[in-house]
Amino acid sequence: MDACTAIVGINWGDEGKGRMVDLLTEAFDIVVRYQGGGNAGHTIVNKYGEFSLHLLPSGVFRKNVVNVLGNGMALDPENLLAEMHNLMEKDVEITPDNVMISERASLLLPWHRQMDALEEARLQDKKYDSSKQGIAPFYSDKYQKKTVLAGELFYPDVLRQHLNGLREWKNLILTGVYGVDPVSEEEIEAWIEQYCMPLKPYIRNTSTYLRDALSDHKKILFEGQMGALRDLDYGIYPFTTSSNVLSSYAPIGSGMPGVEIDRVIGVIKAYSSCVGAGPFVSEYFGDEADRFRQIVGEYGTRIHRVGPIDLVATRYGVQTQAATEVALTKLDVLGKLEEIPLCVRYRLNGEETDKMPFPAALDQCEPVIETMPGWQSDISGIRNWWDLPEEAKNYVKRIEDTIGVVIKWISVGPERHSIIRRGQII
Ligand code: GDP
Repeated sequence: MDACTAIVGINWGDEGKGRMVDLLTEAFDIVVRYQGGGNAGHTIVNKYGEFSLHLLPSGVFRKNVVNVLGNGMALDPENLLAEMHNLMEKDVEITPDNVMISERASLLLPWHRQMDALEEARLQDKKYDSSKQGIAPFYSDKYQKKTVLAGELFYPDVLRQHLNGLREWKNLILTGVYGVDPVSEEEIEAWIEQYCMPLKPYIRNTSTYLRDALSDHKKILFEGQMGALRDLDYGIYPFTTSSNVLSSYAPIGSGMPGVEIDRVIGVIKAYSSCVGAGPFVSEYFGDEADRFRQIVGEYGTRIHRVGPIDLVATRYGVQTQAATEVALTKLDVLGKLEEIPLCVRYRLNGEETDKMPFPAALDQCEPVIETMPGWQSDISGIRNWWDLPEEAKNYVKRIEDTIGVVIKWISVGPERHSIIRRGQII
């Protein structure tokens, strides 16, 4: 039985999960997001255009696929509504029949983004390089029981009373700690009307929906955001996100605690990249970084740090995500390199290791780099494993041998069809 599959990031995020989910949703009835919010984007290129999805599951482009925003997410009404409108304007169907929000999802409140920005400004050069989407303040408040559930929109009196109590508490922090203006009752009222009420038709008990769907033999895909190295418990703490991104959290954050995940597809990029602060052992610096960034085309709204594939971190990510199979993306972009560098081990205190060290030791690690011959050709048009140049196949096999999990898909372009499938696939 392959009823439940998770698709997750193995590294720091930006591995190309969006394009893989967009491809694989063909074989699923339901796609569920189980954590995170507006802090990362899944890029999808298809017949409707190019999109960066932050909150909506990546199944929204497929007819007959239901998309569920689970209880583990940081549900940001303002961003979600904007994302929905953007897609509707481009003729993508968004209705309560194909998009459902868990009544148990907690709402990211207007002050969360503000708190994020204020704290980063206070930290100055010690900042976390946050995406400033309010994610850390949101999850801290969730665990303090100081936010509201989406389902409270059906109980407006309870919601208003609840929110105003929270507002009074938060104003003490905004004015007393950060010295900024308090949030008024009118602002909250306007926020509820403008951004929350339009979402009401989409909110429901999604746990029951998912359990019934499973009984009806529907296939469910759990879509993870970011990567294993950003997981709150198993990532490079404190340079993590504030939620659990691992596949093992998917059942809890989706509303189906205890459900078994049959397959976990880990997504790995053919080189390493990292957005935000924190240790990144195989990182290139200066001109070397600029050159490599240009070759692999690794750009975004924030600086993308780049380096050779870090096989130590990648194997750790595969193990932590409990990946049963892997998709390797962006192999095409290495086609210009004469030699392909790989970080195969770390050097720590004079000794070499292939095991992931404790986070605080990572800054003292140096990468042990090996190189493999490049294929120096354009492989973006190749669709068959056997047509790949020998050097490219060897590179893929080298990664596969190290991680100990089969690489079933090789992506050679951002478009849906730019894929090489190996062996028996979904
Ligand atoms: P996600 O957050 O894991 O979904 O990753 P991103 O949205 O940051 O995707 C990484 C970028 O790589 C996007 O611009 C994708 O369109 C692009 N991309 C994904 N797979 C491939 C690939 O195989 N080749 C190329 N050239 N680009 C890709």
